[in-house]
Amino acid sequence: MHNKSLWEDVLKSLSPQIGKSSILSLFKDSIISGIEEGVMTICVPNHIVRGFIRDRHEAQIFRAVQNIDPGIKEVKYDVMGSLADQDHPFKIDIKLFQSQDVRKMRKVPNKQEVIIDGEVRSKMFNPRYTLDNFIPGQENQLALAACKAVAAKPGNIYNPLFLYGNVGLGKTHLLQGVGLEVLKNYPNKSVVYMTSERFMNEIITAIGKKNTGSFKEKYRNIDCFIVDDVQFFGNKSSTQQEFFHTFNELYDADKQIILSSDKPPGELDGLEDRLVSRFGMGMVVEVLLPDFETRMAILNSKCLEYQVIVGRDVLEFIAFNVRHSVRELEGILVKAVAEARLMQTTPTIKSVADAIRKLSRDSDLQGISLDTEKRMVVRSSDDVIDLVAQYFKLTRSDLTGDNRKKEVMIPRQICMYLIRETLDHSYETIGESFGGRNHTTVLHACNKILGQMKEDNRIMRDINAIKREIGV
Ligand code: ADP
Ligand code: MG
Repeated sequence: MHNKSLWEDVLKSLSPQIGKSSILSLFKDSIISGIEEGVMTICVPNHIVRGFIRDRHEAQIFRAVQNIDPGIKEVKYDVMGSLADQDHPFKIDIKLFQSQDVRKMRKVPNKQEVIIDGEVRSKMFNPRYTLDNFIPGQENQLALAACKAVAAKPGNIYNPLFLYGNVGLGKTHLLQGVGLEVLKNYPNKSVVYMTSERFMNEIITAIGKKNTGSFKEKYRNIDCFIVDDVQFFGNKSSTQQEFFHTFNELYDADKQIILSSDKPPGELDGLEDRLVSRFGMGMVVEVLLPDFETRMAILNSKCLEYQVIVGRDVLEFIAFNVRHSVRELEGILVKAVAEARLMQTTPTIKSVADAIRKLSRDSDLQGISLDTEKRMVVRSSDDVIDLVAQYFKLTRSDLTGDNRKKEVMIPRQICMYLIRETLDHSYETIGESFGGRNHTTVLHACNKILGQMKEDNRIMRDINAIKREIGV
């Protein structure tokens, strides 16, 4: 079989497991360069991609290859730099791996527009902010579910839908996501998204022109009205008055209203009681910071979106340290990637730590959690190994080595358990930190410690003491 179509077949069979977009970002510049005496050689453009593929997909690829050609007994990976920027006849046809969604997404114009009474209103929908792109997690699943319900039947279920939460947690993303989804489901409806500031400016202009009548007219025909950050209405009495009327008209006509703010309605400063009670009439949901796992999933999806490969350790480091906002999480990733590109390397834990420190000093981005050096102490598995070694008065190599004496073995297992528990590394990754042990060994160690903690107070105490040092 031709190398190109063989490679396409292998990757196609992997796509349910790996996902089309990952296949594209990882393999679009790789080729099967040859097959000789049962050994298949795959060439990739650089060492980073090779390391990444080997770490994460080697076994899957081997299985897929064998399914297609059982005669192949080994798959080798070579680096061929020229693949990065040159066409090669063995490269895959990327169209095969572009998902429908991606193609559809590209068609979404940057700014959707809607015409109300012959006037064009920009709706400022960002095509990146879709409900599909919003990574669900425990903390925000209620908010996401409410948004989906509203998008399916606007004006029907939760009216108004009121999302609140701190900055950078995804409120604007959700609001615009509902807007886009309503438009997708009901192309003829008019959906308007605007910030509260913009609403305010329009009112002020209308009042200035003594023309509030036409202002009202304009808003009467909207089917789904989305206003972001209504906390800015605080103490603006004429804005509140106009908004109150607009709200009532839309509400009475069963039109959907979606609002966001940084606080729940009752806690908003300087808001008239009648608005507070209107805001709280439908569904009020808090948007919260996603947990570690979800933060990891968000980072992974951003990597795909930006088409970059960043080591899992580095992503874990970011997810662990940036605990205030998803916007900061993204900001750190983008900055680290941009800097690394400039230096023609990939982000490392150290470079990311520097980026976090720099940004936390930057007044524009407050609240980065890396505020003390102590927090820096434990961010990687090496840090945990050092701490556990110190605690049990052992050396690093005791812990990572093969000594099977109980005094070394139990601390080693505790150490694996703690890495799993506090850093959430995969069993494979932990195995690698311990001299290339098999992931089942790590799994076994973690389960054993978990079991012993229940029976043995001593182990429980040790673990709690070390956890306190880790700062979790
Ligand atoms: P807010 O309006 O609450 O201040 P944004 O909606 O602007 O926050 O979100 C900040 C950034 O974080 C955006 O780029 C958004 O896409 C991203 N984001 C937040 N939560 C998620 C999530 N669960 N999945 C994917 N991206 C998210
Ligand atoms: Mg916002």
